[in-house]
Amino acid sequence: MANSPHLIGMHFSGPTLRAALVQDDGQVLETREVLISPDSMVEQVASVAKELSSVSGNVTALGFGVPGLVNRQADLVIVSQNLPSPVREGLHSELTKATGLRVEIENDANAAAYGEFKIGAGKGVRDIFYMMIGNGIGGAIILDGKLWAGSSGFAGEVGHITIDTEGLECVCGNTGCLETVASAPSIVRRARERLFRDSTSSLSRLGLAKDFTADDVAHQANEGDDFALMMIERTGKYIGTGVASVINLLNIERIVLGGGVMDAGQLILNPIIQEAKRRAFQPCFDATEIVAAKLGSDAITIGAAMLARDATVT
Ligand SMILES: [Zn+2]
Repeated sequence: MANSPHLIGMHFSGPTLRAALVQDDGQVLETREVLISPDSMVEQVASVAKELSSVSGNVTALGFGVPGLVNRQADLVIVSQNLPSPVREGLHSELTKATGLRVEIENDANAAAYGEFKIGAGKGVRDIFYMMIGNGIGGAIILDGKLWAGSSGFAGEVGHITIDTEGLECVCGNTGCLETVASAPSIVRRARERLFRDSTSSLSRLGLAKDFTADDVAHQANEGDDFALMMIERTGKYIGTGVASVINLLNIERIVLGGGVMDAGQLILNPIIQEAKRRAFQPCFDATEIVAAKLGSDAITIGAAMLARDATVT
């Protein structure tokens, strides 16, 4: 164990820091989950990084997946809803200082995409488009084995393509983005609105729950609840609409769909594929595989670690 180099992968999941000590081949050796306080974010992250590096003694690099716009070349988080400005500016330098490791900061969807590409559902092809559908919707483009970052690091923001020109305001400033209808919080919002105005949905078990999450909607859909199933299928249609645009734009070999919303499995994957087929240019659709991700909630930590590993080897 001492001979093979180890990596650290980290990311924020809401207020929780998830961290992992990762083997060179992507296998997770140890994990940590720490509730982060907004006042001491950087210090807490640095302390977990230090702790994990001391476990191995052979850690060569650290990768951090951050939700938002990240310029990896400049080591800066440019926009992130979750991170106050001192954290965005200080994360890279403080982590480097605390651990003495090479640190790579990358957008969380880019990191997850890289993990799937290396050891998950993206393995075996050269080009993939990855979508992470969870609390937000992110995306990443890997071309010829490399993350395609765009001119300033922000490529792949598929969650902010417009689906409904009359739609709701999005965190990005636009209206009607894919994220405003198909992210986990948007599924809950749409389900609530529908339950409130549609008496035919009164048989749904979701209507009896005081509070429910997107996971609950998926669970009830799997249990055969018609209303929940309809909500999941409609969400799939929205995502499939976005996927069709990606197919037409990139003519890419494989599209990998990950993130918590995809935990609904075939119930959401099937309508996504059907809608993409209906909307995309047929020869482009025929040339694209659409598959579910494989690494689950470890995708970001593993991918961030793999990115840091490969950035070290120059
Ligand atoms: Zn948006």
